[in-house]
Amino acid sequence: MSGPKFRPGDAVDFLVIGAGAAGGVMAKELAIAGFRVVVLEQGPYWREKHYSHDEIKYTFLPGLTNDVKLQPITFRANEHEPAKLMKAIEYGRQVGGGSVHFTANYWRFHESDFHERSLYGEVPGTAFADWPITYADLEPYYTKAEYDLGISGLAGANPFEAPRSKPYPLPPLPVKSSGVLFERATKTLGLHPYPAPMAVLSQPYRGRPACVHCGFCESFGCEMRAKSSTLVSIIPEAEATGRCEIRPDSYVRKIVSDARGRATGAVYFDAKRREIFQRAKAVVLCANGVESAKLLLLSKSNLFPQGLANSSGLVGKHLMWDNGSFATAVFEHPLNEYKSVQVTRVIHDYYAADPKRGFYGGGGIDARFNFYPAGFALYGMPPDAPRWGSEYKRLIGTYFTRTMSLLAHATSLPMEKNSVTLDPDVKDAWGLPAVRITFENHPDDIANLNWLQERQYEILKVMGAKKIWPQPVEMYSTSVHLMGTCRMGRDPKKSVVNSVSRTHDVPNLFVVDGSNFVTSARQQPTATIQALAYRAADHMVRAATIGELA
Ligand SMILES: Cc1cc2nc3c(=O)[nH]c(=O)nc-3n(C[C@H](O)[C@H](O)[C@H](O)COP(=O)(O)OP(=O)(O)OC[C@H]3O[C@@H](n4cnc5c(N)ncnc54)[C@H](O)[C@@H]3O)c2cc1C
Ligand code: SF4
Repeated sequence: MSGPKFRPGDAVDFLVIGAGAAGGVMAKELAIAGFRVVVLEQGPYWREKHYSHDEIKYTFLPGLTNDVKLQPITFRANEHEPAKLMKAIEYGRQVGGGSVHFTANYWRFHESDFHERSLYGEVPGTAFADWPITYADLEPYYTKAEYDLGISGLAGANPFEAPRSKPYPLPPLPVKSSGVLFERATKTLGLHPYPAPMAVLSQPYRGRPACVHCGFCESFGCEMRAKSSTLVSIIPEAEATGRCEIRPDSYVRKIVSDARGRATGAVYFDAKRREIFQRAKAVVLCANGVESAKLLLLSKSNLFPQGLANSSGLVGKHLMWDNGSFATAVFEHPLNEYKSVQVTRVIHDYYAADPKRGFYGGGGIDARFNFYPAGFALYGMPPDAPRWGSEYKRLIGTYFTRTMSLLAHATSLPMEKNSVTLDPDVKDAWGLPAVRITFENHPDDIANLNWLQERQYEILKVMGAKKIWPQPVEMYSTSVHLMGTCRMGRDPKKSVVNSVSRTHDVPNLFVVDGSNFVTSARQQPTATIQALAYRAADHMVRAATIGELA
C-alpha cells in the first residue's frame, strides 16, 4: 500500500467501488489521467508474501474468496421455490479481486458475439439482444489490456479469432502433456487447436518475472507475481501517481445520491465496522456481476425507490453465469498435469452457433487438469473407483499423475427471470440483506452442454484415454463467471447502462464490470470486462475534463 491518504470529507474526483479486474483498470486509468481517486475494496490488501500452497485454505476454505459465513448467499431455481443457503457464486474478495486467483484464460470475444441476435434471431424465452457496440469499438482496448497487464499467446494461431491490431506482448507458455495429446487428436479430427491466451507471463515483463510453473495456479495467488492480476500489474502504477488511494477492508453498503439525482459518494463499513461516508464527484461501481447489482438495490432513496439507476426495473435481472461441461479421463502413461498453469491448448471450432444443431449455443474446449491432491482424492477419481481402503490409496497414486479433463466453456442465455435480488430473510454479518440468486438454465443451454460433452468424448477417445467419465452438465459447480445484471444498451427502458457503462439514470454514476454483458459469449469474461473498463475510462476522462461530472 503506497498511495496517498484522502479524507472522507474531501470530494475526490472518482470513487471506485471494488478493486478487482475492472476496478484496477479504473484506478490506473483515472489516476494517470490526473484525477484524485479513492478505491474502496471490501477485502484485504494481500501481497505475494501472504500466499502459500495450502490446498485446504484456498480450495476448500475461502482463503482468497467470498466467505458465505460472513456474506451468506441464498439460491432458488425459480421464484416458486424457497431460497436455500448455498454458495452459488464465488469471487475474489481482496485487492485485485478475481484476477488474483483466477485460472487466467484470457480470451477475446469473437466479432459475432456482439451481434448474435441479428445473426441467429430470437431465442424464445430469452432477452437475447445485440450489444450496442461492435468488436471494432473494443479492439483497441483489448490490445491496451493485453499490453498493460501482460498476456501470453500466439496471434493468428486461432483461425476463428477476430482481427487484432497487434500481436500478444508475450509468446505462449510451454505446452503441457494434456496440450500435446489434445493438439494431436484435434488435428487428426480436422480441428484447429491453438496455444491458450493466458494472463500469465511466459517471459519477464515490466519488472515482473516469468511463471516458474509451480502448479498452484487456479484458486491461488502467485508468489512470483507472474500471474497478471491487477494487484501486481496496474494497481501499483495507479498508486505510483500519488493520486490513487486503495482503501482495503472497506465494505460499501450504500451509494448516496442527492436531490438532483446525482451520486455524491458512498457509505462503507471500515475494518472496525464504523460507518464512513466518502464524498466524490463521480462514482464508478466495479463490484462484479452480482455485488454491483446488490449494491444498487441497496442504494434506494426517495428519488430512486426501486434502487439506484433502476428506473428500468432491470438491475439484477438477466443474470448469466458459468455454463460448462467437463469430461475427465485417465491415460496409460503419466501426464504429470499437476505442474504449471491449468490450460495450454484450446479449440474454438465449435464456438459459433449453428442453426443446424437445432438449438442456440456453442463453446470453446480446453485441455486441463484443475485438481490438487486432496480435491482429486475426493472428487477427481473415476466414479467406479473404490472410496476407501488400500485399493483407493493405490489408485489415487496411479490416477493423480495420469488424469486430465476437457472443459467446454459454453453459452448462458440472458433471461429476465434469472436474477440477483435482496433476500428478505437472511442477513450478512453487517446486518445487510444477503444476495438471493434465482437461476435456471435455458433448455438450449442444456442441449448445447450435452452436445459439447459428446464432442469432448470424441476427442478424448482419439487422444487414447483408457477410461472417460462425465460430470453432470447442469450447474457443475459454484459459478465464477458473473454477468448481465446491469446490462448495456441504448434504450433506458431495456438496459441499465449505456455503451460506455454510464448509468442511464444517474449521470455521474458508472457501473463497469461483468454486469454490463448483454450476452455471455462463451465464458472467460475477464478480457472483455477489462477492455470495457479501458473504454469506459476513456469516456470518463473526457467527460470529467469538460466538467460534465462535477
Ligand atoms: C476459481 C476461478 C477461476 C476463474 N478463471 C477465470 C478464467 O480463467 N478466465 C476468466 O476470464 N475469468 C475467470 N474467472 C472469473 C474472473 O475472476 C472474473 O470474471 C473477474 O475477476 C470479474 O471481474 P470484475 O471486475 O467484474 O469483478 P471482481 O474481479 O470480482 O472484482 C470485484 C471486487 O469488488 C469487491 N467488492 C464487491 N462488493 C463490494 C462492496 N460492497 N464494497 C467494496 N468492495 C466490494 C470484491 O471484493 C472484489 O475485489 C475465474 C474466477 C474464479 C473464482
Ligand atoms: S503456475 Fe506460474 S503463474 Fe501460476 S501461480 Fe505458479 S508461478 Fe504463478
